[in-house]
Amino acid sequence: MDTTLQTEITIKDICEGFVYNELEGKGLFGLSGKLTIQPEYQRNYIYADGKRDVAVIESILKGYPLGLIYFNKVSDNNLEVLDGQQRITSFGRFVTNKFAIKDQNGMEQYFSGIAKDKQDKILNTKILIYECEGTETEIKEWFKTINIAGVPLNNQELLNAIYSGPFVTLAKEEFSNSTNAKIQKWSAYVSGSANRQEFLERALDWVSKGNIDNYMSKHRFDDNITELKNYFNSVIDWISSVFTNVETEMRGLEWGRLYEKYKKQPYDHKKVAEQVRELYADSYVKNRKGIFEFILGGSTDFKLLDVRVFDEATKKSVYAKQTTEAEKNGTSNCSLCAIGHDANKTKIWKLNEMDADHVSAWSKGGATDIKNCEMLCKTHNRAKGNK
Ligand SMILES: [Zn+2]
Repeated sequence: MDTTLQTEITIKDICEGFVYNELEGKGLFGLSGKLTIQPEYQRNYIYADGKRDVAVIESILKGYPLGLIYFNKVSDNNLEVLDGQQRITSFGRFVTNKFAIKDQNGMEQYFSGIAKDKQDKILNTKILIYECEGTETEIKEWFKTINIAGVPLNNQELLNAIYSGPFVTLAKEEFSNSTNAKIQKWSAYVSGSANRQEFLERALDWVSKGNIDNYMSKHRFDDNITELKNYFNSVIDWISSVFTNVETEMRGLEWGRLYEKYKKQPYDHKKVAEQVRELYADSYVKNRKGIFEFILGGSTDFKLLDVRVFDEATKKSVYAKQTTEAEKNGTSNCSLCAIGHDANKTKIWKLNEMDADHVSAWSKGGATDIKNCEMLCKTHNRAKGNK
């Protein structure tokens, strides 16, 4: 790979013919059309947050270096930004009056409103640029190893770069476009942001059963995303037909796995809604995220709910009472050992050898309070399990 250091290119040069696509949130072109700011393998512009974009402009005004920027030289008249897209889009947007910065008096100022000498300072700032020339493989390998200043590429952004092609382009149009109205609906079940490729990542994760890398490699040159789209929609439709009310805790669950495991089971959505309501109202349920899988699996796996356990004070107090009584009667302080026939019949267990148990099972309405607490030796407690 050949690299040439360019030191004479100014912000003004780069902003010549700068085009920003508001809809897709992308900086598109610069350098009079010669420069492609956001090739397909680049992630979306994520600096438009009134902090990072403003910081870029403030750095320039203070004369701080913006850091190295890398271009990939595709041909004599065609360069692509390899690294620096966020910074370039930030100053490009500022120079074209897309956002404002605050002046010394805290007033918002657009580029057209700041003093001429400050405008010139920005426009005449020279950027250090490495132009790289190499094969696609070389460039991509290298791209994999660099991190964009501040925010490293996440895994899906990296995969999009490695497997760039018609499939990724189509998939990003569907899953990475935050103006897509469907994102709103999907975000009830999928966490993360479309811009950071987290919806795309989830869709790929579900359809590939966790083998995103393989799937992307296999489909890299496909000219359609039908399977990906259909599968994702099937999962979303299934969730919303089983659970008709949207709860906050549904966001980010492993819906792909749950869909595969339970899609063939019939559910009465009214009954399900009733169960969800009851469990949400139950103060002993510590893990609300587990409610959905618990119901899907037939309401038997109580571990999923992480039912509130007895506190230490309760355990100690019940232990003391049981042990005093047991010593008086010459029996074990574990009531199940006491009625057994082995050597443990008279064993006095230590506190740390016992666990608290619900006398009347929690699942049958037994409360988690001192009146419903009994200490059992660990073996018996485990054997009794969660009834
Ligand atoms: Zn026992």
